[in-house]
Amino acid sequence: MPQCLNSWTDAAGAAQGKNVPTDPADPRLLGAVAIVLALLVAAIRRHRNRRMLRSLRQRGERLKMALWATGEHYWEYDVGSRVVRLLLVEPDAHGLSDVMHEREVPVEELIHPEDIAGVERAITDCIQGHTRSVVADARVLLDEGEPVWTRARGRVVRRSPQGAALRLAGTARDVSRSRQAERERRIAAQVLHSMDEAVSVVDANFNFISVNRAFTRITGYTAEETLGRSAALLDSDQHDAAFYRHMRATLQRQGQWKGEMWQRRKDGEEFLCRLVCSAVAGASPGEAQYVTVLSDVTREKRAEQELLYLANFDTLTNLPNRAMLSERLSRAIVRARRHGGRIGLLFLDLDRFKDVNDSLGHAAGDRILRAAARRLQQTLGAEHTVARLGGDEFTVVLEDLESAAQAERTAREIIMAFEAPLEIDGHQEIAISPSIGISLYPEHGQVPTELIKRADTAMYQAKAAGRRTFMRYDDAMDVATRTRATLSGALRKVLDRGELRLAYQPRMSLADSRITGVEALLRWSSDEHGEVAPADFIPLAEESGLILEIGEWVLREACLMLGRWQQHGLDPSLAVSVNVSALQLQRGDFPQVVRQVLQDTGVAPGSLELELTESMLMANAGQTAARLQAFRDLGVPLAIDDFGTGYSSLAYLKRLPLSTVKIDKTFVDDVSTDPDDAAITSTIITMAHSLGLKVIAEGVETDAQVRFLASHGCDEIQGFWLAAPMDGHACLSFIRNWQPRPARAAAGAP
Ligand code: C2E
Ligand code: MG
Ligand code: MG
Repeated sequence: MPQCLNSWTDAAGAAQGKNVPTDPADPRLLGAVAIVLALLVAAIRRHRNRRMLRSLRQRGERLKMALWATGEHYWEYDVGSRVVRLLLVEPDAHGLSDVMHEREVPVEELIHPEDIAGVERAITDCIQGHTRSVVADARVLLDEGEPVWTRARGRVVRRSPQGAALRLAGTARDVSRSRQAERERRIAAQVLHSMDEAVSVVDANFNFISVNRAFTRITGYTAEETLGRSAALLDSDQHDAAFYRHMRATLQRQGQWKGEMWQRRKDGEEFLCRLVCSAVAGASPGEAQYVTVLSDVTREKRAEQELLYLANFDTLTNLPNRAMLSERLSRAIVRARRHGGRIGLLFLDLDRFKDVNDSLGHAAGDRILRAAARRLQQTLGAEHTVARLGGDEFTVVLEDLESAAQAERTAREIIMAFEAPLEIDGHQEIAISPSIGISLYPEHGQVPTELIKRADTAMYQAKAAGRRTFMRYDDAMDVATRTRATLSGALRKVLDRGELRLAYQPRMSLADSRITGVEALLRWSSDEHGEVAPADFIPLAEESGLILEIGEWVLREACLMLGRWQQHGLDPSLAVSVNVSALQLQRGDFPQVVRQVLQDTGVAPGSLELELTESMLMANAGQTAARLQAFRDLGVPLAIDDFGTGYSSLAYLKRLPLSTVKIDKTFVDDVSTDPDDAAITSTIITMAHSLGLKVIAEGVETDAQVRFLASHGCDEIQGFWLAAPMDGHACLSFIRNWQPRPARAAAGAP
């Protein structure tokens, strides 16, 4: 090539030629000969010139063809002038044929500034003989177009007599496409390297050809340990040979296989993974290659299982939740239907749990629920499904039930099991009883929701029947439940409609037969439901939170009434007692509410007494004491109501700022007939006195009871014996007309 190029570059000079000398003989002949010769020489020269030109044209054409066919361009570099001559073969302006044209450009203008140094280095190396040829990649700037990545090759083609390089020449080609492809390959390799999924390539025999970094991380095998070995290296015992055969056959036939499978790591641990295997496109059958992308889904599966657990189990007690109960109950129903069996569903609710939870705090409430769940499971054994529906509601599924009596027996066993206090925190003991409703398959329902609903209804009846008991569902209960629902609807409008009023029941000191105070008792005369007993609507008001509003109304009404009585000249030492619900006490602002009401009505704090029930106070002493202290700071005395029905001990009460204990009617009822109740009552009186508390007996109806209480030093009595609750007007005249008759109580005393 360089020779040919030398000829091309020197062609013009050669074509012009040099003068040829002539023969000096006979002048004429010689002249003629000379003319002929000259003509001949001229003809030969012309001919030669033509031939040379033709040959040159042919060579030019060939060069053009060669350049056109190879897609190369020809270049020459003049070392002295640093000018590049280019011979380019490009389409003509119309794009019809390719034309060859020539350019001369200083090297600095031709090469991108960032690449010039590299190019010059390559040229210098070659000129100085360090390299035999020049090879350089650079961006070439032509015609103000985009720079084109070009690879130039060439060598020195002319030297000075002293051997200095004068000219270099060679070819150049556009390499932008291959550079782009190369770049893409590099990026692909990088991506493969940094992928989270294990990627491997196997040949037609399923032997590893290459693996990426994640493959090593996931499987434990390095590239060296895998290359050339069979992909069966990762096979686990979870699948049989047929599985792998089928997988490979599918891959060969369809070009793809995807799915989940177990594989084995180098350390022997099996892991679940998701695989996508694809045949590499374009390979001939014998040279097939398959790429496998493998992702470890063990963790994902575990998370899925955890979610499944969360969806089906109660995290507090680890018992199945409502969703799981429904599923198990459905399956039990299917089995029972097939074999003509029976199922018992027990719906269990912890009595007064809300009070305990409100007063002890939610953390303690949670511990009680956990302890109750354990107690339940222990009592029933593992073969029965015990579920928690939420709150303090639990259910038990009794399969293969022989009779309804068997379900009742189990309910009784559960109630007995709860007689022993639950241990929370390892030291604190809490006694809490369940109320249980029972529904039966097939009698009471065919589907889980029906059975659950009916057992729930029966449970409410058990509560209404006094708690700590069980009830079997019967159709009449639905009526009671509906009444409850409508009552609760009506209750919402009770304050707006002015359907509430207060009744007042006086109490009397046994020592001097003086009326010492009255208890305000709430009454509801509903337009739709008539007179509704507090025992029926107060729990509903507590459930809905309405008790807050209602309670404040009661407080204000009672104080207004007392104020009015005092204006009518009633003894200012006479007090009014108001019953307080757990929810009211729990609300942090209740002391402020009380202060505000006292201020608004002008009643002295000492003339108001708040009655709290025992279950409300079963809290951890510290917290409850702090809460109660706020009332004592106000100067409002506190009484514990219905004493004896809960589980608190007097010693415990000592830690609370109380002033009065009201002995529950259930003990008072039988003081004169039941030696046990007599003993309990007299003990309560003695102990309460030793703690500096005043004792009031509630529900006193008979002379015998009055005698007993008086003789045992009870301070005051309240009950029908003295007076039933009555409206404010009647109560005022009762008190006014009351004649202190110490003789009466004294006469009753033994
Ligand atoms: P309690 O505070 O223990 O009230 C005493 C209950 O015993 C009253 O029932 C009263 O009418 C009744 N009673 C009084 N003496 C006798 C008697 O000699 N024999 C009989 N058999 N019963 C007697 P009542 O009015 O039905 O109230 C029931 C419960 O409702 C109250 O028990 C109290 O816990 C609650 N309650 C009443 N009013 C309110 C209120 O304004 N707020 C709150 N939170 N609860 C209230
Ligand atoms: Mg009371
Ligand atoms: Mg009471």
